[in-house]
Amino acid sequence: TFDIEDLFKNLYNSFLPRAREKGLELAADLSPNLPQLRGDQVRLSQVITNLIHNAIKFTDSGYVRFSVKELERTSNGIIKLEFAVSDTGIGISEDQQSNVFEIFTQVRSLVKRQDGGTGLGLAISRELVRLFGGELTLNSKLGEGSVFSFQIALPYSATVQNPVMTGKILTPALSKSSKVLV
Ligand code: ATP
Ligand code: MG
Repeated sequence: TFDIEDLFKNLYNSFLPRAREKGLELAADLSPNLPQLRGDQVRLSQVITNLIHNAIKFTDSGYVRFSVKELERTSNGIIKLEFAVSDTGIGISEDQQSNVFEIFTQVRSLVKRQDGGTGLGLAISRELVRLFGGELTLNSKLGEGSVFSFQIALPYSATVQNPVMTGKILTPALSKSSKVLV
């Protein structure tokens, strides 16, 4: 299991210097009381990292915000979450919006780019989100900013019940001996 709040804190702290350098506001938003999640924390973190990295790279004023919102929690231990990374950056024109997910595709922009990259980040991120059963989507307006978001369902740890109170947790050795007693 992993703690999404810890993950967000780590991401926030690791991107803060970069955001500060560019004079950008960095914000992280989480739904309250999220449970411990089960799943591939490393790959989830890789997706969000790619998106935040892009957001900061292609934004020169305003903010970069990343969030996780609880959409639904089912009784069988699954939680549906929406992750989003928004920025007030250069944006992506409508006709380029489907292209940016293609491998090696970079939009030529008027803004001079200091750090080039290879055009792999979004292609990889989209595939990783697919492996989580979701889809990475983009909402953007040229000159105004972008929002990358995806919804995924993950198992979460149920609240651990006190075994003394329920009396239902027996080790194999114990259950054997209780059989003898019966
Ligand atoms: P790499 O991620 O491999 O270092 P990259 O960032 O250029 O390189 P992608 O992350 O795949 O590659 O992004 C592809 C292109 O999509 C970018 O080059 C840029 O033109 C555009 N893009 C991605 N994110 C944003 C964003 N937040 N705002 C504006 N344009 C973006
Ligand atoms: Mg990138």
